[in-house]
Amino acid sequence: MEISAPPKFWADPVAAGCNNARKSPSPRSSQICPRRNCTCTSRDRSSRKTLIALAQRNGAALPYPDADALRRAYAFDNLQSFLDLYYLGLTVLQTGTDFYQMTAAYLTRVARENVRHAEVFISPQAHLRRGIAMEPIVENILAAFDDARAHHGITGGLIAGIQRQFDEKTRIAMITALKPWRDRLLAWAWAGLSSGTRHRNSARPSRWRAGDYGWGTVAHAGEEGGADYVREALDILKVDRIDHGVRCEADPDLVDRLADRGIPLTVCPCSNIMLRVFPNMKSHNIRRLHEAGLCVTVNSDDPSYFGGYINANFAVIQAALGFTDDELWQLARKRIHQRLFVGRCAQQSILPS
Ligand SMILES: [Zn+2]
Repeated sequence: MEISAPPKFWADPVAAGCNNARKSPSPRSSQICPRRNCTCTSRDRSSRKTLIALAQRNGAALPYPDADALRRAYAFDNLQSFLDLYYLGLTVLQTGTDFYQMTAAYLTRVARENVRHAEVFISPQAHLRRGIAMEPIVENILAAFDDARAHHGITGGLIAGIQRQFDEKTRIAMITALKPWRDRLLAWAWAGLSSGTRHRNSARPSRWRAGDYGWGTVAHAGEEGGADYVREALDILKVDRIDHGVRCEADPDLVDRLADRGIPLTVCPCSNIMLRVFPNMKSHNIRRLHEAGLCVTVNSDDPSYFGGYINANFAVIQAALGFTDDELWQLARKRIHQRLFVGRCAQQSILPS
């Protein structure tokens, strides 16, 4: 899940180090909601072309000869069908240069939507299992972030995703291997398939290890998996934030608890539709969750696969669910005021005065 700051209206570019940032225009609906983007379809042809080019450059075998063939594979039945393609796509990344170019392309792309802050997930286990060392991965991704901050004024950083399908020993090894960058990562995430695998108590040692590094804790829960996964993320993983969480609605006590504690839900409308959590955007529950007092935020999730960078995610809920510009502002401000892992100082630099 790439979690991005909202669109053009969000802030004047006053982030520290943002010397060459542009002056942002004041909010207008047309900037929030470009109608041509009001669907969740995989239109991001450039990222598919990049993926095919990387595969060719590195001799990685993909069963898709070109970007159009790849696009046809983006018809997901469920989370597992997406993850199968996602992990296959990761195999094209083999050198440090690949990781730099991919990250830089993403950050340049979202800079055009005036993203001010991006918290980006990585899946180190998937690469380590292919024999790729941690150092070129992390160093090159962080270098791309440093350059994006200098060129576009984007703040942010990395969240290390732990694929819950692997055992605790593998999780601990990944967290330990990330120790040299402990001060530069934001959080660890309980990620991967979110149904059929429980949040077992065995996750506790890895949580403690990550906590020793001062990282926050987040968990993918309540998108494909049910409300019980959200509850377990709170009770066992002690998360600071729930990624997705839309299925919490089935448990009214849980909804009250999330609201009372102000636990943020990073809702990703386009992902939810592409993964068939809801049959269409009109039936999405984000408005109900917002009106129930939950800390609901709008985010993008693997946008090159799910067809929705941040502006598209705002656009589709406005078009389908009648969110006003003021309501979108509320959602955007929640995103900033929630427990961002970069701390209050960065919040002040992102917020408009
Ligand atoms: Zn997700």
